Order: sequence, then C-alpha cells, then structure tokens
Amino acid sequence: HATDVTVLGLGAMGSALAETLVKAGVRTTVWNRSAGRAQALVAQGAREAAHAAEAVRASPLVVVCLFDHDSVHEVLDPLVDDLAGRTLVNLTTTTPEQARRSALWAAEAQIAYLDGGIMAVPSMIGQPGASILYSGSQKVFRHHASLFEHWATSTYVDEDAGLASLYDFALLSAMYVMFAGFMQGAAMLAPAGIPASRFAAMAAPWLTAMTGELAGYAEVIDGGDYTVPGQQSLTFSHLGLFIEAIADQGVSPEPIAMVQRLIQQQVDAGHGTEGFARIIESLKHPGN
Ligand code: NDP
Repeated sequence: HATDVTVLGLGAMGSALAETLVKAGVRTTVWNRSAGRAQALVAQGAREAAHAAEAVRASPLVVVCLFDHDSVHEVLDPLVDDLAGRTLVNLTTTTPEQARRSALWAAEAQIAYLDGGIMAVPSMIGQPGASILYSGSQKVFRHHASLFEHWATSTYVDEDAGLASLYDFALLSAMYVMFAGFMQGAAMLAPAGIPASRFAAMAAPWLTAMTGELAGYAEVIDGGDYTVPGQQSLTFSHLGLFIEAIADQGVSPEPIAMVQRLIQQQVDAGHGTEGFARIIESLKHPGN
C-alpha cells in the first residue's frame, strides 16, 4: 500500500499539495499553525493533527510547505527527535544555500532529505503543465517518484540539495526579465493608444517563436567561442535606436537600456564583431 503522507503548512500551495494527495487516495495527515485551514481537506478525507509533533509522527514521509526557510526551522527544529528515521521533503522556496543548510541539518539528525522547487502556481498542482524540480537524496526521490507525480511532472536534478532551488531561481529570472520586456513594449505602445491586450496577442506567438534561438545561444556559450560564423554581432545588436524611439514616446527605456549596457560592456572591451551571446560574459564577470 502507498506511503502515508503528512503535509505541514496549509497555505495556498500546501493546501493544493494535500488536496491532490487526498483525491489520489493517499492517507494524508495535515497541520497548519493557524486553525481553520484544514476544514475543506478534512471533509475530503484528510486527518488533521492537533499539533506539528503529532503530524510528524503520523507518517514516514513529511512534506513541508511553509512561508520561508526560517518558518520551516521554527516548526521543525524542536521536532528533530520525532523526524529522525523519517523522510522530509521540503517544498518551501529557499535559496540554494538555505537548502544546503537544511540538508546538513537533516543529515545530522538522521532525516532523509529531499528539497524541491515548485514551478507552478497552486491551481496548476495536479494538472498538466505543472513541474517540480527535486535535489538532495536520490534514494528518496526514486522511492517516492510515483507519489510526486500526483502533483506535477517530477524532475530530479542533483544530489546537491541546493540545485533544485538554483534551477528554480534561474528559470524564474528568465521569466521575470521576459515579462519586464513585455511591459517595456506595452508601455511604448500605450501613448499611441494601443491597448496592452492587442500587444499581448502579438507578443505571445512572437516570444514563443523566438525561444527557438535559445538552443543556438547555448551551443555558442558552451562552446566558448563567440566568433563562430552565423551569429548576429554585438555591433549590429546596438540598441541606441530603440532607446531613442522609446524616449520619443515619453516612456522609460530601463529594461532595454539594461540590455544595451551589457552589449556596450563587450563592445568597449573590443568584442563588437563577436556574437550577441557574448553579453553573458558581462554577467559572468561583473565589474570587468
Ligand atoms: P501562503 O502565504 O499561502 O502560506 C504560507 C504558509 O506558511 C501558511 O500555512 C502559514 O501558516 C505558514 N507559516 C508562515 N510562517 C510560519 C511560521 N513561522 N510557522 C508556521 N507556519 C508558518 O504561501 P503559499 O502556500 O503560496 O507558499 C508556500 C511556499 O510555497 C512558499 O515558500 C512559496 O514560495 C512556495 N511556492 C508558492 C507558489 C505560489 O504560487 N503560491 C509557487 C511556487 C512556490 P498560517 O496559516 O498560520 O499563517
């Protein structure tokens, strides 16, 4: 029979994780610091523990999804003796360093530890498109992989517990900068009376098509040679005209000006004829 699971933390995400397990028929025990958040889950078949220690003792597999690293340790540090010999899956968003500290803390307390980065919003949990990255104990990942599939597509990245978080932040960094680029375009069009919705309808297929370039950039970056033929040069990529056009609209060019600064650093260092992918060197060596 399937492993019993305890879920600590019934915020938006913890509730979604617990609900998916309950619906899949997994015996699920839940706990939340503030009362009143377990009612809907209990109505669906979850068991509510009176306190965190009771929740931990209820299952061999404990899933924690709290606000941040400090809140996880506020709850779990007093319970190390109860957790010893059990498995802890920490789906709380933390930095890679915090995840590594938790892994070390767990190892010292004989707790099998897996860290996770959730690439989804709560409504996506249990739906196609949701993805969760895991790092830490591969043994734990293998043992519970089919259970994790109830939540999302599960990907194990490394024994280093910090790497799921590092990938998570790398993916989110790419997303936020892309979103800021969308805002840049929408702000440019607004003075011309063009609604953001019309721009969004054009930008979505455009950006989707352009993601086809990523693999090519990656090949150049991994090859380490920015002079390979067929690339758009840094000089050609000069964004001065963009910045002028944006200023003419009376809006801030800040997102695109940031990209131009990365280009200019490489041009100033004498690499103007090399490929656009070289702007990654401006990021890898800040201040050079
Ligand atoms: P919520 O704000 O909805 O819930 C936070 C939860 O943490 C609540 O259960 C809260 O309990 C609990 N909590 C906070 N501080 C403490 C503490 N000191 N001791 C005990 N419990 C505490 O957040 P989410 O559920 O949305 O997020 C949870 C985690 O999941 C976060 O790390 C978030 O980054 C991550 N995540 C969330 C995503 C999202 O889209 N929501 C996406 C990807 C990751 P109480 O009810 O008592 O306040």
